Amino acid sequence: MALPTSLTLEIVTPDRALVAEQVDEVQLPGAEGYFGVLPGHAPLLASLHVGELWYRKGQEKHYLAIAFGFVEVLPDKVTVLAQIAERAEDIDTRRAEQAKARAEERIAGPHSDLDFERARVAMMKSLIRLQVASRARTRV
Ligand code: ATP
Repeated sequence: MALPTSLTLEIVTPDRALVAEQVDEVQLPGAEGYFGVLPGHAPLLASLHVGELWYRKGQEKHYLAIAFGFVEVLPDKVTVLAQIAERAEDIDTRRAEQAKARAEERIAGPHSDLDFERARVAMMKSLIRLQVASRARTRV
């Protein structure tokens, strides 16, 4: 059987379908670290962490902020079921800056009733949103 030459990428969240495209390559924030997928990849199921997802169509890369969920990889298809996903150009950087400042205050402040894991996740989401939003401007 011939190897596939492209991937169908689908990215959905509980509220919306964000991406349904033919792409050449995808990089994902797996719970065990970032990993890349090219056409013909071995099938796998992985959980996702907070991070940057990019996909490439020819020379053009598109970036999204992702938080939690799962990905199913097949040789010709990548299906991402994310708890949260935003395209770089849709990220509200002011909101992300405010979320970062709140998380910083919580972590730096008195720790008696701090839910550290919650503050850590809020901090990571805000940092990833700011990183991904900056990609929209620079198109690296
Ligand atoms: P905040 O503290 O600013 O409310 P949050 O991290 O608690 O942010 P989430 O629970 O992660 O927010 O997301 C709730 C919804 O808001 C999701 O649909 C998410 O895509 C959207 N969202 C959150 N922050 C941003 C942002 N900075 N830009 C665009 N969409 C955002």
